[in-house]
Amino acid sequence: MSTELGAAPDAKADNRYQPRYIRLHPADNVAIVVNDFGLPAGTVFSDGLKLIDFVPQGHKVALVALEDGEIIRRYGEVIGYAIGPIHAGAWVDESRIRMPTPPVLAALELATAVPAPQPALDTFTFEGYRNRDGSVGTKNILAISTSVQCVAGTLDFAIKRIRAELLPKYPNVDGVVAITHAYGCGVAIAAPYSNIPIRTLQNLAKNPNFGGEVMVVGLGCEKLLPDRLIPEGSAPNIVRMQDETLQGFGAIIDEIMRMADARLQILNARSRETCPASDLVIGMQCGGSDAFSGVTANPALGFAADLLVRAGAAVMFSEVTEVRDAVHLLTPRAATRQVGEALVREMAWYDEYLARGGADRSANTSPGNKKGGLANIVEKSLGSIAKSGTSAIVGVLSPGERVQQRGLIFAATPASDFICGTLQLASGMTLQIFTTGRGTPYGLAAAPVIKVSTRTELAERWHDLIDFDAGRIATGEATIEETGWDLFKTILDVASGRKKPWSDQWGISNDLTLFNPAPIT
Ligand code: CA
Repeated sequence: MSTELGAAPDAKADNRYQPRYIRLHPADNVAIVVNDFGLPAGTVFSDGLKLIDFVPQGHKVALVALEDGEIIRRYGEVIGYAIGPIHAGAWVDESRIRMPTPPVLAALELATAVPAPQPALDTFTFEGYRNRDGSVGTKNILAISTSVQCVAGTLDFAIKRIRAELLPKYPNVDGVVAITHAYGCGVAIAAPYSNIPIRTLQNLAKNPNFGGEVMVVGLGCEKLLPDRLIPEGSAPNIVRMQDETLQGFGAIIDEIMRMADARLQILNARSRETCPASDLVIGMQCGGSDAFSGVTANPALGFAADLLVRAGAAVMFSEVTEVRDAVHLLTPRAATRQVGEALVREMAWYDEYLARGGADRSANTSPGNKKGGLANIVEKSLGSIAKSGTSAIVGVLSPGERVQQRGLIFAATPASDFICGTLQLASGMTLQIFTTGRGTPYGLAAAPVIKVSTRTELAERWHDLIDFDAGRIATGEATIEETGWDLFKTILDVASGRKKPWSDQWGISNDLTLFNPAPIT
């Protein structure tokens, strides 16, 4: 990606105050305004372009006059067609852009431009918790799963007591997490696609951050049998509330506490050990995107993803609806035709799922995305896929499937932050990188989340929520490469427990949210 800046190079001293735009590709006929809070009509850039409208930060300015129906290009790709003539220097807002149709899946090129592997990086390590199955956690957490929503309140009650009475005795344990959800009963458990929520719950229990010591609280009459949530080869650690030997609520809580105490003793005996970076399973997603997402945070994350792939790690990118409109740029990068076909299969499945639900193409791009300068899902997708870097795509996972290989993997999930996070945890993610332009306090209790801002203004305003500022790329203070290396090293520090992301420092996290495309009864 070549970056052309609309300010003279000698303006570096007060970069943040010079009128500035970023054009990402020589073929682009629009660019985005960099300056905080936008620029007024009459502003003249160093190349002579004069704004004829106020243009908010992150929004597009026409670099040349465009005729009605003319292609509008960003990232060198078509993001839409001009609605009516647009003058040079005008604000190209969403009302002036007609959205293109998504790429035709049957016409995609598969594995036609497979990137060659980059040189291996085999000296990088982190301090992790190695599990019996060979996986490595970045945290040491007691997870208590549930087979049905009926028990959620009871488990919350027990967890408050576990935190107050048991955890202080076990300083090597990072915390206790309840895997609560709305599934388990009142659902068509054998209907098509019910396999998605069920395998998600099964695979969540196997997340490396839980150390193979999961226990389950169930009710006793639910459709989803608690035994199905215990990983094969693990002890059957189940408390059923309707068990006839448990006389009342107090006895039930005592039983949960007793079982938790036994697991905590085992977890507390563990310690971190030096592991190669190839033991990492990293998830990536974005939320609250803006027009800078594809300029700063996602390209920096893409660079870090390439470094992780070179170090032998598994790196997942996701969010089908934010990949769909740019999928023609991804399928040629599939390592094999089979991987390309799997990518197409996941896109087709989701097209059908959205069509069944009557979702239209404007359903993704939120009001905040638009305020941040993203006109439509095509422009959002082009920015979103930048986080996949430049490596070959070696694997594709259906929602909630467990990762079985290393390298760059597309893990199909909805774009919903909470569902994507839950599904990536089920796939075995031990650390997540989350890029944001508008800002979100997002966090996960089960894995550390590094939040990366697309703009410095956000990183400064939310100095105690944003972990990493990629906005310096837009102001020319740092390169994508430098920022990508910084982020890679931050990932190793956080995975090792040396650095704590803000969401962990505050103890804030979002609920796990299952993806259930099957009927509710
Ligand atoms: Ca998201």
